[in-house]
Amino acid sequence: MSVDIVSLAEKVATETIRRYASEVDTDGRWPAESIDALKQSKLLGLVVPTEFGGMGAGPSVFAKVTRIIAQECASTGMIFLMHICGTRVIIDAPAFPRRNEILQRIASGNHLTTLAFSEKGSRSHFWAPVSQAVPQGDKQSVSAQKSWVTSAGHADSYVVSTQAVNAKEGTTSNLFYVEKTQEGVSVTSLWNGLGLRGNASAPMKLENVFLGVDELLSPEGGGFGSMMSSVLPWFQLGNASVSLGICAAAIESTRTHLLNSKLEHLGQNLASLPNLRGRLARMKILYDTHLAFIEQVAHKMETNAPDVMLAVLESKAAVSEMALELTDLAMRTCGGAAFSKHLTVERNFRDARAAWVMAPTTDVLQDFIGKALLDMPLF
Ligand SMILES: Cc1cc2nc3c(=O)[nH]c(=O)nc-3n(C[C@H](O)[C@H](O)[C@H](O)COP(=O)(O)OP(=O)(O)OC[C@H]3O[C@@H](n4cnc5c(N)ncnc54)[C@H](O)[C@@H]3O)c2cc1C
Repeated sequence: MSVDIVSLAEKVATETIRRYASEVDTDGRWPAESIDALKQSKLLGLVVPTEFGGMGAGPSVFAKVTRIIAQECASTGMIFLMHICGTRVIIDAPAFPRRNEILQRIASGNHLTTLAFSEKGSRSHFWAPVSQAVPQGDKQSVSAQKSWVTSAGHADSYVVSTQAVNAKEGTTSNLFYVEKTQEGVSVTSLWNGLGLRGNASAPMKLENVFLGVDELLSPEGGGFGSMMSSVLPWFQLGNASVSLGICAAAIESTRTHLLNSKLEHLGQNLASLPNLRGRLARMKILYDTHLAFIEQVAHKMETNAPDVMLAVLESKAAVSEMALELTDLAMRTCGGAAFSKHLTVERNFRDARAAWVMAPTTDVLQDFIGKALLDMPLF
């Protein structure tokens, strides 16, 4: 089954996603055709349990599929990743009354979701929203300034974090299911990013949005726990997989360029230069060693290994850093041609920079990993 899923992802990626990637990046537009292809192939239901019509895939297949998508279009890869993270929260919310219906819609390709965690006030410290729910009859009123929401205005629903009523600190939070059409939900500006230009990671505002227990996805006051258990491992693994996909594209583009670019006066091509071959080799070694690590992390998630959380923290920190080095090597190896859009290298270089600043940022992950190694509390 997993072989079939991976072949399906390869087909969607090479037949559709590849075709629109350059235009999506240049125009900074939503990859409508690619998202439609993911919907039609039912890949949006990749991790939805089979009882709801989904593919029931685990971390290893998820990592592979995300990498395959991101290799063709990192914007589409990131949209897919945030959708899977939102889906994981819904899967892990047995008390949410609409859980089964939404999961069936996701599995049948009729629902895209995403995370709306980061806030203007707490920036990359997504675990500590500054917005706070206020009681309103038997409901709660939520107002929040969400600083970056991938798929803003395009997703059918948002998994929104906010401090619980009467909470004394940001980590006492709730996660709510919020429909796109709900009154008080708006996108406040357009996304025009350096990289991942197609993924509509725009700011959003929630203004007196009425929510209640029927929309609650986490245990009351347990939003932080849901973020750590339902989201963090999948986000880290998936984010590392997006970075690996970007790196795979940069390697292939560099390899093709070295083979096809002539030094006519010498009767040779660029592949004849040993320093360029050496750089390509360094790129490949970086890629293969990090791919092996990510496969190991996925396996640890699948087997619930005792050191899984440390491995999960390391995964995004390691690969996001490596992707900066690898795409820099690709730029230098391809020379002036790397600045041109006929290679994918300059897009790969720009796209690779987002993972480092996506929360938890690499700085924060390194601090968490150090604390974990020294038996210190992370928060
Ligand atoms: C393309 C893209 C898509 C995104 N999509 C989403 C999304 O779908 N949903 C969502 O919720 N968010 C999303 N985000 C937001 C993201 O997760 C981060 O919250 C955001 O990138 C942080 O940017 P900032 O300017 O607020 O960082 P800041 O918090 O201002 O950080 C600035 C610098 O300070 C460092 N720093 C911060 N805190 C510490 C610390 N404690 N110790 C050491 N160094 C520290 C950081 O590493 C960074 O170098 C997205 C971001 C991007 C770029």
